[in-house]
Parts: sequence; structure tokens; C-alpha cells
Amino acid sequence: MVEKFYVTTPIYYPNDIPHIGHAYTTLAADVVARWNRLLGKDVFFLTGTDEHGKKIEQTALEKGKTPKEFVDELIPRFKEAWKKLNIKYDRFIRTTDKDHEKVVKEMLQKVYDKGDIYLGNYEGYYCTACEAYFTEKDLIEENGKLLCPIHKKEVELLKEKSYFFKLSKYQKQLLELYEKNPDFILPKKRRAEIINRVKEGLKDLSISRTSFDWGIKLPFDETHICYVWFDALFNYYSATRDPSKEKFWPADVHLIGKDIIWFHTVYWPAFLISAGIELPKTVFAHGWWTFDSEKISKSRGRVINVDELVSIAGVDSARYFLMRATPFGDDGDFSEKSLIEKHNNELANKLGNLVSRVAGLIEKNGVEKTENKLLEKLAINEIKEKMKNYELDKALNDIFAFIDECNEYIQEKKPWETKDKKVLYELADSIKAIAILLWPFIPETSEKIAKGFGFEIRDLEQINKPLENSNIKKGEILFRKIDLKQKYTQD
Ligand SMILES: [Zn+2]
Repeated sequence: MVEKFYVTTPIYYPNDIPHIGHAYTTLAADVVARWNRLLGKDVFFLTGTDEHGKKIEQTALEKGKTPKEFVDELIPRFKEAWKKLNIKYDRFIRTTDKDHEKVVKEMLQKVYDKGDIYLGNYEGYYCTACEAYFTEKDLIEENGKLLCPIHKKEVELLKEKSYFFKLSKYQKQLLELYEKNPDFILPKKRRAEIINRVKEGLKDLSISRTSFDWGIKLPFDETHICYVWFDALFNYYSATRDPSKEKFWPADVHLIGKDIIWFHTVYWPAFLISAGIELPKTVFAHGWWTFDSEKISKSRGRVINVDELVSIAGVDSARYFLMRATPFGDDGDFSEKSLIEKHNNELANKLGNLVSRVAGLIEKNGVEKTENKLLEKLAINEIKEKMKNYELDKALNDIFAFIDECNEYIQEKKPWETKDKKVLYELADSIKAIAILLWPFIPETSEKIAKGFGFEIRDLEQINKPLENSNIKKGEILFRKIDLKQKYTQD
């Protein structure tokens, strides 16, 4: 039986412009999905948009549109952005999709019938931009006003009838979950914070609103709209309710930004336990990209959108930079200059030069099949282990260490002098391994290399099968170096 693998991204607010923050999570999911495809697994990769809520309703109203018309117009921006980044998801789910709405209603009814939902009063400070309530201690006080800590906009004090989910009831079961499944929250450094907060006690969670209409009606009280998190989180599950997709639940990993780790590691498993559904295996929270240590987000001004990101040095260089520049899980500081430096020093100088030199020498001298001893220097098991642990940057380090080995081997063996066809074969066969391993990260480049060296990228097993083709062609230049000095004086 073929093993399955299910990876998700958060669903994004459709009224955001797809920017580096969205791109980072979605790209990481693409890398992880492609890697698992190379492992021969049956992969399901889900992304999408979170379309309900007061904010969408208000913005649509201002524009004289219905909320559905409004969101329909926004979705192509996300789909185009993912296409531009060569991201190949299997489904783009929208919380307005009928199959999702049906599942949310079923889950609400199930949890209600279990006695885990009750009617109460909710009062709290609400940020419309966040679509979330804040406790007073989390807010910023400025000139006597209380501001949202993320948007620095004034919050509203709202009081309304609301249905509550009995989150407090699940404290013990959640703590047991974290205890028994050390990989449920990754990276490990984020576990302690969640565990400590859960130990302090959990308040029941308001899951409905009456102050707006744009959302899923509660099946047991249609005057209430389901509050965003119950609706949004269930997208991961509803996408697997189609009979052909059922085998994918539970998710192997939910990739998220660290700002939403609480919702994914506390609310989400509690909802699932209450509904009697098997839990996902891992929630992995990555860090933020910052400019001068401020989180990059639309409302804070400084955004790098996907078009800008790709325009700096091309798609694969953008993909490579985001995965390589910072340990996956930590924060990273973004700069155009460091992206170009990585493009020049690693992709053009190391990878690009290796491929074009070897292909050029083979075109001239030919190859002779032999045992590839050079491949012994490839730390394949370490790379597999790191990919399994979502240490994506470290896996790239190991792949590039092997590229360095290959470049040193050329310098040492001087095949341009010796015309040694066996040495050239070893290098060609090693380049095959490199192209396969890099495919999840820089698929377009890997496919170009594969074409020139006469093989197709299918799976990791191919690394151990000797390259059969001897008709190797020097293709187009993979990465053109960008002149940093010229670029910055022109600007
Ligand atoms: Zn806010």
C-alpha cells in the first residue's frame, strides 16, 4: 500500500495582497509536498482562503458588493501568486465552498449534541482587522485609547449573546496530548510556552456572533453566525470528506506562522476531541520575516508582495532564498541584497557553474560509465532525516555541501586537461542526484538540468540508479549573475 501524506497551509484572508508572509508558508508546504512525492507517497496539499467574517462583510458593503461577489474577485490574486511561485497544490479550499459549509454545520451540531456548546454573554475588546477579541493585558494603551497590538488600531468593546465552546473542559486532555505526542507542536522550542499557558487554565471560547451576517449559521440557532475560528480550522478536515480524499485524514502536518499557533494547538485539537475525530500529527509553526525586526504585514506598511519577490532574481532564487536564508522555524530578516547575494554566490557560482562546466566538458569529450564513488560523499540519510524533521534549511546545507564536493573534485581531477571520461561520468551522475534533491526547492531549475542530462525526475530511488544517458547537452545558463553595484547605483 502506498503511504499517504497530507500537508496544509493556513487559509488566508482574501482581502490581503499575497505577500512574503503568505508565500513563505505556502512555499514551505510546496517543498514538503514535493519531497514526499519524491519519497513515493500519495500526497495531498491543501491551501485556500478564509472568507467569512465582519471585516469582509464591511469592506464588501463599502464597495457596494455582496460579500460573495467581493471575495470571488479576490481569489484569482492568490491563485496567480501561487502559480507564479510554481506552487502545485491539490486543492484550493474556500470557506464559502458548499462542502466545507456542510461539514462545519455537521461538526457544530455534533459538538452541540455532546453538550460542549452553551449560550452565554460575551464581552470583550474586539479588533475588526484581526477578527479577534483581546484581553485587556494584551492591548496597547496610547493617549487613553486601547489599541490592537498588531494593527495599532483602536479596539471596540463589544457585548453580545454568544454561544460558547467548553474549552475549559479539555485542559487535561490537551496536556496529555502534548505529553504523549512530543511532535504535535514543532519546533520543540514552542512547546513549553503552549503547555505553560494551557496549565494556567483555559477559558471557554466564544464561537458565535449576532453582530453580522456573513458566515455559517449555527444549525441549532440560525440567529447566530459561526465565529471565524471554528469555521476556519475545520477547512483542514472538510477537504478530506470527499470519498476519494478520506484516506488523507489525519493531516501529517499543518504548516502555520507562529502568530496562530495557539489556535492550532489548543482550539483545534479541542474541537476535534469533542467531535470525536482523530488528531493531526504535527503543527509546525515557522517564524516571521522582518524588516528591521517588525513583522511584515499589509497593515504595518512594509510589504514585499509576490510580484516584487519574484522580480528580484527570478522564481527559483526567491524560493531558494526563503528556504535557505534562515532556519525553518526561526525569524528571518529580509533584504533584496541578501537574496541577490545568495543567487550569485550559491545558485550561479556553485550550482550553475558546476552544471555548465560538466555539461560543456562532456559535450566535448564524452562520458564513460563507471561506478560513481563521488556519490559516497552525499549525506543522503542525513538529508532525509532533516527533511522529515522540517529542517529544510539544513537539508539544503547538506545538498550544497555535496555541490562543494563536486566542485572540488573537478578542481582536483582537472578533466579539461585529462579528458577523463570516467571522472566526467561521476560528475554527471552526481549532478543527477543534485537535481533530484533540489527539485522540491527549485523545481524549474532541476527540470532544466534533468532535460540537459537526459533523465526525468520521478523519485529518490533514481539517485542509486546509474545515469544511462551519455548524450549530455550544455543547456541555457541556469542563473545569470546580477551585478549588485550596478543595480544599486541605477536605483
Ligand atoms: Zn488587530
